[in-house]
Amino acid sequence: MLEVFDKVLIANRGEIALRVIRACRELSIRTVAIYSEVDDKSLHVRFADESYWIGAPPPAESYLNIGKIIETASKAGVDAIHPGYGFLAENADFAEACEKNGIVFVGSRSTTLRLGGNKVECRNRMKQEGIPVVSGGESIIDDEHEALALAEEIGWPVLLKSAFGGGGRGIRTVRSREELKEAFSAAHREALSAFGKFGVYVEKYIENPRHIEFQIVSDGKGKVVHLAERECSIQRRFQKLVEMSPSPVVDASIRERVGALAVKAAKAVSYLNAGTVEFIVDKGMNFYFIEMNSRLQVEHPITEMVTGLDLVKQQFQIAAGEGLNLSQEDVRLRGCAIECRINAEDPLNSFLPSAGLVSRYHPPSGPGVRVDSALYSGYEVPVHYDSLIAKLIAYGGDFEEARLRMKNALREYVIDGVATTIPLHQFIMEDTDFRRGDLSTDFLQRRLPNPEKLKAKQRVNSEIEETAAAIAALYLVNKGRKPVRTAAEVRSRNVNGWRSSHAYSNRWPEGWRHAEDF
Ligand code: ADP
Repeated sequence: MLEVFDKVLIANRGEIALRVIRACRELSIRTVAIYSEVDDKSLHVRFADESYWIGAPPPAESYLNIGKIIETASKAGVDAIHPGYGFLAENADFAEACEKNGIVFVGSRSTTLRLGGNKVECRNRMKQEGIPVVSGGESIIDDEHEALALAEEIGWPVLLKSAFGGGGRGIRTVRSREELKEAFSAAHREALSAFGKFGVYVEKYIENPRHIEFQIVSDGKGKVVHLAERECSIQRRFQKLVEMSPSPVVDASIRERVGALAVKAAKAVSYLNAGTVEFIVDKGMNFYFIEMNSRLQVEHPITEMVTGLDLVKQQFQIAAGEGLNLSQEDVRLRGCAIECRINAEDPLNSFLPSAGLVSRYHPPSGPGVRVDSALYSGYEVPVHYDSLIAKLIAYGGDFEEARLRMKNALREYVIDGVATTIPLHQFIMEDTDFRRGDLSTDFLQRRLPNPEKLKAKQRVNSEIEETAAAIAALYLVNKGRKPVRTAAEVRSRNVNGWRSSHAYSNRWPEGWRHAEDF
């Protein structure tokens, strides 16, 4: 139990707000939720001890409204604010506002956030420390001529990245001088609209790398421990989709060497609290620093599963000034954990966001299965926020056990009413390259047929067909008729009542039929 904090405000929503509330309960800390107009029926509002309406749905008026949040925190009399991830989690002004108002910000110091918030500065700093970075510019570039000169110097292809960016936005791959002009103005526009600041820099594009990151925890007084790596190479548009720990290509000696680099990076900036040091890895297994995320990551549960540590509780303990009761030797990895990010997006329709009513919800369970989600039957997925609606985590004694548990869990997971990325994850779990650990950031382009082809094939996933057969069997039992057991039997009997239903059609393209009135 932490004596230091009596009450904490959670400046976030959705699954991460619930995650933090749960940690607080274990620590006997009272919780304060904030919510926007569309979130008044959200679970974080129901689960917190107190909750306060803070504004209209657009993030700028609610979850990004620093003045309003600080005012609410003062009114509620909290000792600390946990920002979750996204929104204000890495906002130096917010951390500073907390510091000025005598509220503990559960995260890094505002000075570190300022440095980490400028990715070019951060790169330069790491370079000074002797940490390998991808070759590229050392400052923000003002026009495309400068970008061109730099690209010619470091060699094509290059990436244009936003210095103040995050979440994979504002990144452009440029393969030739012809593409540069257009890409530069697009990156410029995107950076301005997404981050409100223009600032593009150039980096050498590493062909089809892996993304491997190290979790660190630091007491801010010089003690830094790494909690091993997460492989996050399965991405779409530079955004992570599936993560796992450990990485299939990291052995104990690589872990020790690169983990030490991550610790060095954290020490270089006097890092405080939990953070992530991200690397991209080329075909020769060379690790290059790309950025430091000064916050809890979406994918933190897989590290929790393999280390047995609770990262959110660690965060509170560090923020309370109680230091780290952990040394590097105490960190032992056991088994393997995989996380699938379940987004309310239609993988068969260009990943179009899919908001609306969740008409039926049934989360999976069983050994090694963890679901971090704020969904429930009757919940309305709003259009205003990130499309991540659930994180499904499977843990096993080894990769294969974790994969099979994930496969089962995905199959059991029912989210009706909105399209989700579940079918895509089912596909990935079966993929031969995935099973071999042959991963890179182009995995999806390389392994998935385009959605049109997927639809045209009218492919029937045999497993899901089996499930459909079971549902049809139950349907027949309900109707007082002899049940059929297998998909083949279902087909041969030409069972009536198998119709496409919206509820299930979002689980797999075509071929997925069930009795409408089941
Ligand atoms: P963000 O902060 O927007 O998430 P990152 O710098 O972390 O941006 O990069 C996001 C993703 O972009 C990485 O996971 C990787 O897939 C890709 N990426 C970044 N830098 C490079 C690079 N130099 N070469 C190839 N891919 C890269």
